[in-house]
Amino acid sequence: MTISSLETLQQIFGYDSFRGDQQAIIDHVVQGGDALVLMPTGGGKSLCYQIPALVRPGTGIVISPLIALMQDQVDALLELGVRAAFLNSSQDWRTARDVEQAFLAGELDLLYIAPERLLTDRCLELLSSGHVSLFAIDEAHCVSQWGHDFRPEYLGLSILHERWPQVPRLALTATATAVTRREIAERLALNDAPHYVASFDRPNIRYRIIEKNEVRRQLLAFIQAEHMGDCGIVYCLSRARVEETAEFLCENGISALPYHAGLAPTVRSTNQARFLREEGMVMVATIAFGMGVNKPDVRFVAHIDLPKSVEGYYQETGRAGRDGLPATAWLAYGLQDVVQQRRMINESAGDDSFRRRLGAQLDAMLGLCETVTCRRQRLLAYFEQTISSCGNCDTCLEPPQAWDGTVAAQKILSAVYRLWRERGQRFGAGHLIDILRGKLTDRIKQYEHETMTVFGIGADLSEQAWRGVLRQLLAQSLLAVDSEGYGTLALTDASREVLKGERTLMFRRESEKKARNSRTASTRSKAAEIVLPGEAQQRFENLRLWRSEVARSHGVPAYVIFHDATLREIALNCPQSLDDLGGISGVGVRKRDAYGEELLRCVRG
Ligand code: ADP
Repeated sequence: MTISSLETLQQIFGYDSFRGDQQAIIDHVVQGGDALVLMPTGGGKSLCYQIPALVRPGTGIVISPLIALMQDQVDALLELGVRAAFLNSSQDWRTARDVEQAFLAGELDLLYIAPERLLTDRCLELLSSGHVSLFAIDEAHCVSQWGHDFRPEYLGLSILHERWPQVPRLALTATATAVTRREIAERLALNDAPHYVASFDRPNIRYRIIEKNEVRRQLLAFIQAEHMGDCGIVYCLSRARVEETAEFLCENGISALPYHAGLAPTVRSTNQARFLREEGMVMVATIAFGMGVNKPDVRFVAHIDLPKSVEGYYQETGRAGRDGLPATAWLAYGLQDVVQQRRMINESAGDDSFRRRLGAQLDAMLGLCETVTCRRQRLLAYFEQTISSCGNCDTCLEPPQAWDGTVAAQKILSAVYRLWRERGQRFGAGHLIDILRGKLTDRIKQYEHETMTVFGIGADLSEQAWRGVLRQLLAQSLLAVDSEGYGTLALTDASREVLKGERTLMFRRESEKKARNSRTASTRSKAAEIVLPGEAQQRFENLRLWRSEVARSHGVPAYVIFHDATLREIALNCPQSLDDLGGISGVGVRKRDAYGEELLRCVRG
């Protein structure tokens, strides 16, 4: 008797119904079709290949670049009673041989393989000798040469189509611009396959972008006020910043670990494992961290440096709140970020068109930071999707004011102009602001800048306000970071229009409330919103304690046993019997049989 997709979803995974396009994708692949699937992180891609692999005869081969995470992925499936295994370079040969034999004997539903392994003659031979039900190419954007995760091995995957034309192939990614999508389809020979593009909206994530001043203190205040004890990720641009930020958080009572490509592989994998297994851990990392980490209860993702592209930013923030519970994406950004990134682009190796592409990506990111309209609308527009304003981002919740910054802009631009025309000099932001505010610093005296007509013409605005003006001018390319590499500022063609009074400039000014909140700490506690009523909270805590013990004894992360969302539902609904338990989302047959009695005992207290 064959089991249907829906029965598989309900009995094995313990979920009631499919989400979005899942049903259509699964039906299509079960019938032997190829597909390209684009869903945001946390959208539910895994089921799109796991269920067809269970329904179709043979073994589903999952190609995943993430060796360090295969163990967890397989453990999670084994807990569900799915026959899964992996083949990668971390195994000894005996284990690998056992896996190969299980595959040949038809004893596996799913087999995870790293692409470089798959492309070896030995592995291709192995697959030819067994029965493959489908190929799932996870993280398919790794095939894109312009993308941030390019992996040359992925280019070799076109061989799958040539060698197994009858076996359905499913490419999945959370990276979704039209350009990347076309590139994936072309390189993996999926041009004729349907493309399933889901909504990229993640409504449970609250987007917030704040003006940076003392970023570590702001980060600490944010975590203390809204996410104390929560699991989170903090992204930084450099390794040094990762190290110092992790240290700073630890000194201030927050459990934090560093992660970047400069750490020894053993340190990296230990830190990753601790992040996955321990409750309330904060990972401070470069973007080297996170792909494929499917920890469902990451409650916040913070960026303390400006990300280089909206695409990267959206993937990184998407790692928050996969369980659908409220989560925060928090970004602090300031003038120095813009200067630094424009400078990095000027200095980057590569031809003009490469630099132009980097510049366009940065412009889109800056547009998001400076927008006075809904952040989510802006984010989704980048993926060519439209929504009405979301009500769950900072601009919707605390609308910023727009102010006419034309005169302020003219003052700065004329200072830049005069320095160059009259003195043949260029300076960076700090010194320009000192000139405008009429500050008699040693440097001002050294260059006799107090004698210039622009000296002191901007005393009416604070230093912070001037930084905001400069930042927004740089964001709109009305000022440029010159290409000599010192971070000095120069006019652009567009600046002349402003100087001549041909253009009015409206700038963003934070609402009073938001400015106050980012100086002190927000009083609005997100975490409080997910506290359960009355005794349910205590039951939830008990269930979590029980889960920690089980997870420890099985050597797996806690979420592999049950997600928070499932434990919350149990705590709220107080099931009295195994039948009641079966109705809870995330409790499949196998887990009900294995843990049902203990769960009921836990609920009874
Ligand atoms: P992605 O790979 O797209 O980032 P996952 O496959 O990890 O996302 O799914 C995200 C979360 O949503 C997981 O915790 C998963 O168990 C859950 N999920 C997926 N599909 C469903 C569904 N139909 N019903 C309930 N939960 C689901």
